[in-house]
Amino acid sequence: MIHDVVIVGAGVAGAALAARLGRAGRRVVLLERDLRPPDLFVGELLQPGGARSLEALGLLGCVEGIDAQRTRGFAVIHGEEQRALAYPDATHGVRGRPVEGYAFHHGRFVARLREAATQAPGVELRCGTASELLRTGGTSDAPVSGVLYRDREGREQRVPAKVVVAADGRSSRLRRCVGAEPPARLSYSIGVLLRGIALPHPQHGHVFVTQPAPILGYQIGSDEVRLLVDVPGDLPGGRSDGLVQYLRTVTAPQLPEPLRGGLLATLDSGELPRVMPTYALAPRPVRWPGLVLLGDALNMRHPVTGGGMTVALNDVCLLAEALVAVAPDDGAATERAIARFYDARRPLALTIDGLAGALYEVFRADQPGLERMRAAMMRYWQLGGVAAAGPMALLSGLSPRPALLLLHYTAVALLGVGGSLVPVPGVHVGGAPDVRGAAQVAHAAYKTLEPQLRRALAH
Ligand SMILES: Cc1cc2nc3c(=O)[nH]c(=O)nc-3n(C[C@H](O)[C@H](O)[C@H](O)COP(=O)(O)OP(=O)(O)OC[C@H]3O[C@@H](n4cnc5c(N)ncnc54)[C@H](O)[C@@H]3O)c2cc1C
Repeated sequence: MIHDVVIVGAGVAGAALAARLGRAGRRVVLLERDLRPPDLFVGELLQPGGARSLEALGLLGCVEGIDAQRTRGFAVIHGEEQRALAYPDATHGVRGRPVEGYAFHHGRFVARLREAATQAPGVELRCGTASELLRTGGTSDAPVSGVLYRDREGREQRVPAKVVVAADGRSSRLRRCVGAEPPARLSYSIGVLLRGIALPHPQHGHVFVTQPAPILGYQIGSDEVRLLVDVPGDLPGGRSDGLVQYLRTVTAPQLPEPLRGGLLATLDSGELPRVMPTYALAPRPVRWPGLVLLGDALNMRHPVTGGGMTVALNDVCLLAEALVAVAPDDGAATERAIARFYDARRPLALTIDGLAGALYEVFRADQPGLERMRAAMMRYWQLGGVAAAGPMALLSGLSPRPALLLLHYTAVALLGVGGSLVPVPGVHVGGAPDVRGAAQVAHAAYKTLEPQLRRALAH
């Protein structure tokens, strides 16, 4: 039997797509190498834009019954300075619901998505590890016609299908099969779970601006806080002892109480911190007939804005919409639908990737120009009104407008440059104009923006 679609990877993107396509009457095989709920500390904060996509997919129920915590904004904490920024609630509410995101245990959320997928008519969940793409005609450039995989018993199996969706995540095997460029490693993220503790600002995601890079904090359960400690470059002193030492001596002293005590208590308990690499991957579409890349297999950015699932779920909405609009047997129409999907996803992906790239650079500022950019950013948000609501609309994934991102970024840079010449509280408080400082800010702003523009051109 030739299936309409085989989806490789039952993570956030693959499971959500299977549920949506199955409900639309498509015959779908969802192939997953490990059916246990993933025990990972990724994908724990879902921005409101992602929640909106979940609702559009009919899957918002997947955040229920998993002790998910509602989030209403983001807080940035830099020493004594704090900004708690609310998501804009003006016109973006879905059916009268307030604009909110969710924080949860990733594995519980994925388990709920898989459950929804298996309950959809037409979806068959199989356990196996995809190893190769099948091609019509057997040549390496022939259209993709299915997937070869190994089942749990180690037997080689084939799933013939009209469309193959590679949703196999950050280390995508299928992406490598078509020779697409590998992702670039940005940093490492150390994950620690603190119990019996709350974050300073209830219902807010947190960024602690620390050295050498930011720490993220999410309330992922009623009394559980996840800390993600970013480490640029190589890991400090090996994987376990070195990491514990690093968290004790570098990270803990920079955290406010009670988080500092909570982190030390977790380390004292002997619970080892866990590590994941973070990657950037510009989404150059892979134009192979019969194949479409989705989620992290297509596009990645630093997790500083918690944007990965929001982009992935928006992609699921767009791809599903494109695929269900064409007859599954019409290969040419399916190719056009896939091309439309790659185009339609650009505005949101560009916005979230650009924002994550720029914020990560500014938050881990280690040069005078970038430090002033950071001060200007804190000051900008403090201005309130559109200066706070605009960036939050971008961060929440509700405003997929790259031009708006550029506008706010330019405004921050101008505040940084201007604040070096004319004293502006919080940016430059000295009396005399600092021309050198102004030039440093302008240079830093350009250096931060340039890689984002390069990635944007690759979109
Ligand atoms: C440290 C860190 C923190 C993050 N925090 C957040 C956050 O707070 N919010 C957010 O929105 N995003 C976050 N992200 C990003 C987010 O986790 C991803 O964008 C999201 O999980 C992508 O979903 P996916 O379905 O594409 O991939 P995945 O969730 O990785 O799913 C891929 C699936 O494919 C399966 N698979 C892989 N290879 C094969 C194979 N050969 N055969 C069969 N199955 C296979 C895997 O087992 C897995 O189930 C974070 C990322 C990192 C690195």
